[in-house]
Amino acid sequence: MTDENCLFCKIVDRVIAADIVYETDRVLAFRDIGPQAPTHVLVIPKEHISSLDDVTDEQGALLGDIVLAARDVARAEGIADAGFRAVINTGGDGGQTVPHLHLHVLGGRGMRWPPG
Ligand code: AMP
Ligand code: ZN
Repeated sequence: MTDENCLFCKIVDRVIAADIVYETDRVLAFRDIGPQAPTHVLVIPKEHISSLDDVTDEQGALLGDIVLAARDVARAEGIADAGFRAVINTGGDGGQTVPHLHLHVLGGRGMRWPPG
């Protein structure tokens, strides 16, 4: 179920264009419009869920779906062997700016820790 007012749901519904790199019946992955690394892909559930804090127990399998999709995207992008980062920003302090759950997959450069 998508939300017609949600940016990432519009990408799912092909109302807004994106550079889609991976798709299943439950998951979509596309390149971030403002990449923070040579590879920067967002993996989302097609179903609208606002954030990690809004995932219900019944929706829990979707978390496995997006994490496994991140693994597959990293392999397909050729960043898995060197290493990559997968992160879910959640809420204000988490730095979330788009209220549709998404997993960032970043790679192609060394990552710092802790993040800023
Ligand atoms: P976050 O700050 O964790 O909510 O991440 C949202 C991400 O969505 C940011 O990295 C943005 O660059 C990215 N973004 C925003 N609009 C688009 C878009 N139309 N297509 C692809 N990525 C987008
Ligand atoms: Zn949405």
